[in-house]
Amino acid sequence: MLLIDRATVRKVYPIREATQVMAEAMRRYSKKMVDLPLRTILRPEKDTGLLGTMPGFVSGEGWAGYGVKAMVLKPENPGRGLELHIGVVLVFDPDTGAPLALMDAGAVTAIRTASVSAAATDALARRDAGDLAVLGSGVQARSHLEAMQVVRPLRRVRVWSRTRANADVYRAWAATELGIEVEVTDSPAEALAGADLVCTATAAKEPLVEAADLAPGVHVNAVGASFLDHRELSSAAVAKASFFVDSRESAAAESGDLRAPITEGLIGLDHIQAELGEVLLGAHPGRREEREVTVFKSLGLGVQDIMSGFAIAEAAAAQGLGQCIKLD
Ligand code: NDP
Repeated sequence: MLLIDRATVRKVYPIREATQVMAEAMRRYSKKMVDLPLRTILRPEKDTGLLGTMPGFVSGEGWAGYGVKAMVLKPENPGRGLELHIGVVLVFDPDTGAPLALMDAGAVTAIRTASVSAAATDALARRDAGDLAVLGSGVQARSHLEAMQVVRPLRRVRVWSRTRANADVYRAWAATELGIEVEVTDSPAEALAGADLVCTATAAKEPLVEAADLAPGVHVNAVGASFLDHRELSSAAVAKASFFVDSRESAAAESGDLRAPITEGLIGLDHIQAELGEVLLGAHPGRREEREVTVFKSLGLGVQDIMSGFAIAEAAAAQGLGQCIKLD
């Protein structure tokens, strides 16, 4: 079995390549080539954290077979200088079922989530979009900035984060690591004013994005709010938008952003226009008008981790990277 650490995952799985793998993952998901139970979330009474497990089986040519992601979410971790989610992705040899590769899930999650958003942006955002607002300054906020510049030339970038000092660190990181100039704003509304690309990547529980903040023609990747009791978008913002999802099933079961306006009677489940995979397969046209507001609600799917796991294992083996260990 190949052990692949965080640095190696990043080295062998650049966002540009990952975006292609993730577009294929979303197509296979919508073509029902994937067996994927809803993720299980174990919230023990005696711990502040939770364990999420996402097993699955992917069929098709390449990057296919059994895999699982297991991650612990510890709310205390960011305060300790550790990542919020910690865990592993494991993929199995498609023939024998023997464990093939075990890798750092934090890096996989950061890259695969941003790469799915990149695929969604490429499919749904206006061709000329390039005025980006990022809400949040953590792991996903960083990988999303990297991903957005892969699919659209960025004219302007603004960031808002709950803790101003973290937004300042983000600005310095973007300048040093990506050579991108980022403006820090004092409120989400200020970041969103006039933006035609938005990535929301916070752990907020209450909406940060109001309908009036969304400029005509904007595309929003709504990445945080992965649970029913979390929200980033107001009900009116969701109702105003053409709403796309990674998975209808996950969105209906897990998205607070979608559930709240449904409970309030503003919209029905039919507010979901399509899965991203359906758009990529040409089964749905995606954006229809320049002034349309599109939202891609990302919840994250095991197929994204499993196909990433196979792609990473393949690339690491080809480059002679990773540490080989014998289990038997
Ligand atoms: P990080 O801990 O790295 O960053 C969290 C960010 O959320 C920080 O910028 C923090 O701001 C902000 N934040 C925390 N609490 C609040 C709040 N109450 N109101 C507003 N902002 C808040 O986490 P990640 O980047 O790893 O994850 C971000 C979100 O994305 C999480 O909700 C996570 O569950 C979700 N996620 C979704 C995935 C998907 O597939 N869709 C995959 C992985 C994560 P500050 O530091 O300034 O206080």
